[in-house]
Amino acid sequence: MKKILITGVQGSGKTTQANLLAEKKGLSLVKAGDLLREFIKGDSEASKMAASLMEQGELVDDQVLAELVKSKFEELKDAKGVVVDGYPRRMSQMAQYDPNFDIVFNLDISDEVGVQRLIERGRADDTPEAIQKRLAWYHQETEPVLEHYRMKGILIDIDGEKEIEEVDKEIMSH
Ligand code: AMP
Repeated sequence: MKKILITGVQGSGKTTQANLLAEKKGLSLVKAGDLLREFIKGDSEASKMAASLMEQGELVDDQVLAELVKSKFEELKDAKGVVVDGYPRRMSQMAQYDPNFDIVFNLDISDEVGVQRLIERGRADDTPEAIQKRLAWYHQETEPVLEHYRMKGILIDIDGEKEIEEVDKEIMSH
C-alpha cells in the first residue's frame, strides 16, 4: 500500500490537494481533522477534552489521535494507497504511531497568504486567536517533523501559492 502525506500550514491547500490526488489516483483519504470531528461526537471524557482543545486551536492528545489514525490504517489495509492530511503534526505523534510514508508533499506558502485564505474560508474554528495558535504550533511542532522527512529523503517541496491546478499538476508529476 502506497502511503502519501500532504502537509503545509493552514490555508496551504493541503486538504484540496489531498482530495484531488486521492480522486485522480483512486486512493483512500485519511484526514486527522475528520477523525477527530467524528470522535468528539461521543460523550466520553476524552471526547469532551478533545472538543475543547480543538475549539481553542490547540493540538489534541497524541495517544487519542494516534489510536484513531492507526485503526483507520488497519481498516484500509487492502486499499491501493492512502493520502493522509493532518498527521503527524508533531514528533511525539510519530513516536506513538508512524505510518511509514513513501512520499511527503510539503505545500510551501507564507503565513500571510495562509491567513488571508482562512479569512475567506470562514470555518467556525477559524477565530483570529485559533489561527495564530495553529500557525505558532505548526512552526514549532510540525516543522521538525518535516525536517525528519527531509533527512529521510522523501520530502518534496511544492510552491503552494500557485493556482490549484498548477499545484495539482506538480504533485501528479511525481
Ligand atoms: P484540520 O481539520 O486538519 O484543520 O484539524 C482541525 C483541528 O483538529 C486542529 O486545529 C487540531 O485541534 C486538531 N488536530 C488535527 N490534526 C491533529 C494532530 N495531528 N494532532 C493534534 N491535533 C490535531
